[in-house]
Amino acid sequence: MTHTLSFTDSHCHLDFDAFQHDIPTLLQRCQQANIDNIVIPTIGPSNWRKVLNFVKQYSSESLRLHPCLGIHPWYLHELSTNSLTELESLVAKHLPLITAIGEAGIDGVIAKEHNNLQQQIDVFDNQLLLAKKFNLAIIVHHRRSHQHILPLLKKHKLSNAGVIHAFSGSYQQACQYIDLGFKLGIGGTITYPRAEKTIKAVKRLPLDSLVLETDAPAMPLNGFQGQDNSPLRLIDVFHCLTTIRSESDADIASALAANIQTILPKISS
Ligand SMILES: [Zn+2]
Repeated sequence: MTHTLSFTDSHCHLDFDAFQHDIPTLLQRCQQANIDNIVIPTIGPSNWRKVLNFVKQYSSESLRLHPCLGIHPWYLHELSTNSLTELESLVAKHLPLITAIGEAGIDGVIAKEHNNLQQQIDVFDNQLLLAKKFNLAIIVHHRRSHQHILPLLKKHKLSNAGVIHAFSGSYQQACQYIDLGFKLGIGGTITYPRAEKTIKAVKRLPLDSLVLETDAPAMPLNGFQGQDNSPLRLIDVFHCLTTIRSESDADIASALAANIQTILPKISS
């Protein structure tokens, strides 16, 4: 029996400047590495249309690109009074194409720096409502904010849940998200030995709760600091995961492929 490996980068900012010098070559190399689906979150009004156009231009049968529409908590300064209405009408208009709402969430570090925790909560709350209204999953950004995010997820109880992007935290924190139906985005963090708590959690968690991501061009892997991250590094994240987990490489790869399709059903191999 032959098995074709198929990987999905569940979080990659392919529309960012870092990649624009040669997208066709990058996508071709991704395909050669068996990366055949890439999820592209947006950050706010400044790149919603850009990502929709990017996907129309570059998505193909062999490498499918999946846009998300949302407001990232770092970019609230981009918002005007009608941004949420605009987001809602764009989601409605492009619904068959939209994979999820996101990236959305709460960043505790930024909340302190900008003194905008309440605004972040409100914008996230609104995007959860939107996800519910359109029956979409949500891609959740977190940093020092589990205590703010979990109550909101419990309040809205999304039937499609979503992905906790760049999960870092303890086994107990992970279980709370899994209980709400969420998958955990596993990326470069696990390549750093100092991320002991997260690595321990990733080792113990049910295999069916994990999905892979790079967050490129951000979040370089251990050994690649100072360089832009790339979706090609997804394979390195996978190999790192196989050293942490006890299952066979083939079992891990097929579980990861199934997991992402469960949580984001518009992705199919
Ligand atoms: Zn991101």
